[in-house]
Amino acid sequence: MHKLEAVDPEVSALISKELLRESTTIELIASENFVPECIMEAQGSVLTNKYAEGYPGNRYHGGCEVIDQIEDLAIRRAKELFGAEHANVQPHSGVNANLAAYMALLNVGDTILSMDLSHGGHLSHGSKVSITGKFYNAVFYGVSKKTEQIDLDQVRDLAIAHKPKLIVAGCSAYSRFIDFEAFRRIADEVGAYLMVDMSHIAGLVAAGVHPTPVPWADVVTSTTTKTLRGARGGFILCRKEHASKIDKAIFPGTQGGPILQNVLAKAVTFKLADTEEFKKYAKQVQTNARRMASTLQEMGLRIVSGGTDNHLMLVDLRPWNLTGVEAEERLAKVGITVNKNMIPYDDKKPTITSGIRIGTAAVTSRGFLEKDIEEIASIIGNILEEKDKADLEPYKEAVISLCLKHPLYMTPHEISASLTRITNE
Ligand SMILES: *Cc1c(COP(=O)(O)O)cnc(C)c1O
Repeated sequence: MHKLEAVDPEVSALISKELLRESTTIELIASENFVPECIMEAQGSVLTNKYAEGYPGNRYHGGCEVIDQIEDLAIRRAKELFGAEHANVQPHSGVNANLAAYMALLNVGDTILSMDLSHGGHLSHGSKVSITGKFYNAVFYGVSKKTEQIDLDQVRDLAIAHKPKLIVAGCSAYSRFIDFEAFRRIADEVGAYLMVDMSHIAGLVAAGVHPTPVPWADVVTSTTTKTLRGARGGFILCRKEHASKIDKAIFPGTQGGPILQNVLAKAVTFKLADTEEFKKYAKQVQTNARRMASTLQEMGLRIVSGGTDNHLMLVDLRPWNLTGVEAEERLAKVGITVNKNMIPYDDKKPTITSGIRIGTAAVTSRGFLEKDIEEIASIIGNILEEKDKADLEPYKEAVISLCLKHPLYMTPHEISASLTRITNE
């Protein structure tokens, strides 16, 4: 009816700008990924027009015959992919999934035991600045100072001391496998529910290259973004006994109508994740992360906990007298995007930090292999080592040629033409 470019050229130009930015920079933010075009197509569909409060077969709006088939398909695929008894595919995001899980299992004022934000946890696990920290009494575990891995003895001690109603496992900045079975044992010992927030690792879990939390947790929450490579959104898996409580906590508990174009995109995401191609992808993400960590280590940088089992790592910049904020800014100048991140026992503020977080899910989606990873790692190492002295031009060129070697959404020719146009403007 009305094409965006004609209706709103200003916005249309901004989309082109962002497309070019994504095409010509190296994306190492661990929570990001590049979705296939079919996912964006699903999200741009007429499903945005429909209201469908409720669940398949039990709606508060008419005309849901097709919507019911779509949501049922997404639910079936989620259950099959992860081997779950029940799935809710309506959460608008990861945080919404967590809010609903808490609402289903807890009363306001109950105690939860979760990972400290500054050790790799997530805001929505009871941080003071999140509504979850205002509604629930959060006690935090962390990583041991020595191994920088989750201290299960501390988890158990805190669980016995505080008798939480819910234990939360799952992190945003932790590079090691999580022992979900051990968490289950601790939860059982103190009579707590176990919730696993697998947002970051969902794609690795789906592909079988990370241990699955599903058999051990009462409830598993997740985003569809990150390693699972879907559009922005969330979902919840749970045991049958919690199904009705979880569904009610999403609608009417914490959300209105589902965002149906996103539910559709989730159905496609689950289908794509259930393929050999995706398994290969997830394995490569992991191989690339290991290569990134070992190359940075060879250059003299310190990786928190000594390495990585998943798609991400934390780099400790203290030995090089750098802060996270400085490193993030320097790397941005050559087109490498990372985020500053607290490292365990960090003495710097969250706005400064002593570390950066690096992830390989996005670059692997554009086809980067170990050799490309070594090249990025050596650019990162050199730029950080040379500090302000570095002549950045050769690094900028190296970044662009890596991007042209593995084009994204645009052909190398289109990228070059856009870059030339901008330079001439
Ligand atoms: C990313 C993330 C979330 C938040 O997801 P949103 O979709 O941004 O709301 C929740 N929990 C963990 C562990 C995450 O890494």
